[in-house]
Amino acid sequence: LLLRFERRWWMAIPARDLSDMLFLLSDAAVPVWWTQHPSDRDVLTGWLAGPPTHAFAALDEHALIEVGLAALADIFAKPVSLLRRDLTAAHVTDWAKDPFARGAYSYATLATRTAQDVLTRWDGGPVLISGEALYRGRDMGTVEAALASGRQTARTILKIDT
Ligand SMILES: Cc1cc2nc3c(=O)[nH]c(=O)nc-3n(C[C@H](O)[C@H](O)[C@H](O)COP(=O)(O)OP(=O)(O)OC[C@H]3O[C@@H](n4cnc5c(N)ncnc54)[C@H](O)[C@@H]3O)c2cc1C
Repeated sequence: LLLRFERRWWMAIPARDLSDMLFLLSDAAVPVWWTQHPSDRDVLTGWLAGPPTHAFAALDEHALIEVGLAALADIFAKPVSLLRRDLTAAHVTDWAKDPFARGAYSYATLATRTAQDVLTRWDGGPVLISGEALYRGRDMGTVEAALASGRQTARTILKIDT
């Protein structure tokens, strides 16, 4: 959930200085939120994954935005009507409904190593494939994995032994 507000109201919470808040972890319906810190953009991104998403699977974009606003109201003990009033734009990305993502970060199965062998094999042609899904280390599904895979492909192109 990407929610843009008129101002960064979370910076003005009296009880706590949240001026350098990056991630916020909570028990709310949408439990994880992050800011754009250190940029001054007025956007909060909410994230929800795994089995808890089942409860919201049938909701449309508008209803999911309301769930996000209610979660923020819950976390910050603010009236949801105030948050709704300050909302200037909102966007929902529902990975579960994306036919290519199918709801998940990439993860390894028993067939993954064989698939990686096929996809990373280079026949000298113009197309090479990189990305998190081709990473052979532990933390698949991360930016680090994507960068490491890209680096590996660059080394292949440059014919540097690994
Ligand atoms: C909500 C969310 C939060 C995340 N948070 C973190 C985090 O905090 N830390 C972290 O390390 N990782 C995080 N990740 C994971 C991280 O974003 C991915 O692991 C990383 O972006 C994978 O990079 P990639 O280059 O392999 O693939 P992608 O970034 O998915 O790039 C693939 C690109 O290929 C394009 N593409 C697809 N099909 C075609 C086609 N047919 N033709 C042309 N182009 C095509 C896509 O549009 C896309 O731009 C998060 C992911 C999500 C969804």
